[in-house]
Amino acid sequence: MSVHPVSKLPNLEQSIFSKMSALAVKHNAINLSQGFPDFEVDPELIRAMQQSLHGPYNQYAPMAGIYSLREAIAEKTARCYGQSYHPEKEITLTAGATQAIYTAIASTVYPGDEVVIFKPAYDCYEPSILAQGGIPKLLQLKGPDFSIDWGEFQKVLNPKTRMVILNTPHNPSGTILKEADLLQLQEILSPTDTLVLSDEVYEHLVFDGASHQSVSKYPGLKERSFICASFGKTFHITGWKMGYCMAPEVFMNEFRKIHEFVVFSVNHPAQRAIAQYMQEPSRYEGLSELFQQKRDLFLEGIRDSRFEFTPAEGTYFQLLNFSKISPLSDLDFAQELLQDKGVAGIPISVFNLNRQDHQQLRFCFAKKTDTLKRACEILSRI
Ligand code: PMP
Ligand code: GLN
Repeated sequence: MSVHPVSKLPNLEQSIFSKMSALAVKHNAINLSQGFPDFEVDPELIRAMQQSLHGPYNQYAPMAGIYSLREAIAEKTARCYGQSYHPEKEITLTAGATQAIYTAIASTVYPGDEVVIFKPAYDCYEPSILAQGGIPKLLQLKGPDFSIDWGEFQKVLNPKTRMVILNTPHNPSGTILKEADLLQLQEILSPTDTLVLSDEVYEHLVFDGASHQSVSKYPGLKERSFICASFGKTFHITGWKMGYCMAPEVFMNEFRKIHEFVVFSVNHPAQRAIAQYMQEPSRYEGLSELFQQKRDLFLEGIRDSRFEFTPAEGTYFQLLNFSKISPLSDLDFAQELLQDKGVAGIPISVFNLNRQDHQQLRFCFAKKTDTLKRACEILSRI
């Protein structure tokens, strides 16, 4: 008798990020697809990591993370958003935001529970919900500014709605939620016990003088929210897979019960290094300026191209519409662009409800000036 698994995720395909990055390597294309920087990490952070590797930190860290890093995260949150999270009880270090998101979902979502996701959405939410037997309720963001239709949201809310997932700044659209959105959500959720998972991995990448609307700033949301964050995004170290989750104590207690058996604790030397590096706030406060320059360089470089765009408000992604250039689907156009022209981007239909195709590709501008200029030259000739 042959034995087969009964898949929990029978329809899951290879991630578009893995696919496009592998193709970019194969075709030696400029890789603006998967979101990661191609520039060097700050030598100070590398030095801090080297020091911790030579120190007594090569064994297990405490389950929730070392206290000094939790304290540094609490200080950063107080500084940026004026909000307090207790380092001992309300903050846990995770293996990237991905593990924080999975753990928050696994610790709260029961079979049959509904979780609202706004599409296009980052790819890790749905599988994490399905693996718990939860039901993703998918709502499409509206119009060129990818806004949330709060009336539509209100209509799908019901006693089975366990959670709603927010992501601001938003991957893949590069838009940000505004104060009015958060106030609306706070009001709508106030008579319910629906939780919020707020994916804020791009919190420090917000442009043109706008400010990041963390759910922590809204008391009626803070009391019901898991906030997930990523050092990979903030310190250009996606390969370290370091992140954290913040939530009120009652929710963090449940989070830790799952965290303990998913991973127990995360990379100890990296925690030491980041704790030391974060003592200097300019290391995260200057990021919007750096990335705004990169966005502007990229947009200036394609100003005379046939692509159409609205400048990204946040993240390190820019959407470009190619409907004036080609009738192809975004999947086919991305493939052609990569193979024939040597630039890799991400077709965003894969993140949309029913894979709606609006002929848009996502390009990552977290790249060296030279990389961006070379890509712009090619994109301008198309
Ligand atoms: N959320 C969003 C919106 C992302 O773009 C990413 C990719 N970094 C993650 C979560 C996962 O972050 P990490 O790499 O820290 O797991
Ligand atoms: N967050 C990255 C992106 O959006 C990808 C991370 C991954 O490959 N899973 O491109």
